[in-house]
Amino acid sequence: MAQTLPASTPYGATETRRPRIGILALQGDVREHANALREVGAEPIEVRLPRDLIGLDGLILPGGESTTMRRLIDLYGLREPIVALAKGGAPLYGTCAGMILLANRLADGEEPVLRLLDITVERNAYGRQLDSFEADLDIPSLGDEPLHGVFIRAPVVSDVGPDVEVLARDPDGRPIAVRQGRVMATAFHPELTGDRRLHRLLLELIQP
Ligand code: GLN
Repeated sequence: MAQTLPASTPYGATETRRPRIGILALQGDVREHANALREVGAEPIEVRLPRDLIGLDGLILPGGESTTMRRLIDLYGLREPIVALAKGGAPLYGTCAGMILLANRLADGEEPVLRLLDITVERNAYGRQLDSFEADLDIPSLGDEPLHGVFIRAPVVSDVGPDVEVLARDPDGRPIAVRQGRVMATAFHPELTGDRRLHRLLLELIQP
């Protein structure tokens, strides 16, 4: 399919193409991720069908309800093409429910969905009082400025494999931001704040 440049581009054909980042748009907080992607200079593409994944430079799996998303992923035949996109080297970023979809292992014997990230997660495991909370997080790899994390019925990462880099931990030492190669995930929702460092990190993971 031919790539058309916006008519108003001041630089004509010499303008470099904006990265096209898909957002799994079956359910969940799609619009907030789309805004965040525009702010970092990417073109957000809503993904509902396998054909929407063609030619993407990366993919975001948003927060929402992972059981609903799991059902719709299978209904629309998205599981294999998403795995293929990742295996082809495109970076993926899962937030909250998206982290659950990426995990290799789910506690309580639930069947994992995409198995692209060597972590074990326990859904809704922060407990009743902490159902939703906010915290300033140290993420040294993103700079000195703390990142404000919004947690909404977040999963707990109870185990990480040897190839997984822990980017940040909660006050009890449990991982809340992880990365394995080009697959990253956070238990919290950076799209709900104005901090765009994690969306920028996703773009940095795109292969040249
Ligand atoms: N509790 C949800 C789940 O288990 C995740 C919540 C979220 O994405 N904010 O799927």
